[in-house]
Amino acid sequence: MTDPYRIERERMVKTQLKKRGIRNSRVLEAFKRVPRHHFIPKKLADQAYADGPLAIGESQTISQPYMVAIMTQSAEIVPGNRVLEIGSGSGYQCAILAELGAEVYTIERIPALCEQARKTLRRLNYQDIHSRAGNGTLGWEEEAPFDAILITAGAPEIPKPLLDQLAIGGRLVVPLEEDYSQVLYIVRRSKEGFHRERGERCTFVPLIGKHGWKKDPRA
Ligand code: SAH
Repeated sequence: MTDPYRIERERMVKTQLKKRGIRNSRVLEAFKRVPRHHFIPKKLADQAYADGPLAIGESQTISQPYMVAIMTQSAEIVPGNRVLEIGSGSGYQCAILAELGAEVYTIERIPALCEQARKTLRRLNYQDIHSRAGNGTLGWEEEAPFDAILITAGAPEIPKPLLDQLAIGGRLVVPLEEDYSQVLYIVRRSKEGFHRERGERCTFVPLIGKHGWKKDPRA
């Protein structure tokens, strides 16, 4: 199949990801393969490989490619990992995780977006992705533990159920509210407990639910 956006996608990988320090070659290859233009509204297709988030409806966004890359690289995915993503949105992050050989579980709060993401992923033939609509701050207990958990929405604090569902040796990546903005944190679980590492500043739409914001702080 010819892909009109292949060149733009390669340029995105080079200028937005490599240049800013994404070094993991498997992650870079995954970004070269996933057609981001299929994950956004048709009328925005020409902006698909631009350096920023884009509106996907329901007041939500597909994240900036660089943010998806830094989260993915930080999660240190290896083939066969069981990975939980909170906030499916467009499904793009799921596709990147699937390209890395992960078995992906993803939860989306807004049913219409969950359905849309499911359709896109099915159309592009992604397998090993299990999705459901619901409150992701509770995690997916029946399928725990997970080798990696990616929370792709900004949280006031790390939802306790998600820490409980992280495997020993697992990595959890989450944007946390700090001084009225957000900072990405990488949490590692060892036998001794949890270790937090502070990453870079970021901007995500809010994580809403029992262990997140009680209501949309933007409203
Ligand atoms: N990862 C997505 C972008 C996520 S935007 C992508 O690749 O496109 C954040 C998403 O988190 C939004 O779709 C929002 O509806 C969802 N969200 C917010 N709170 C949630 C919760 N408690 N559980 C599940 N999803 C949630």
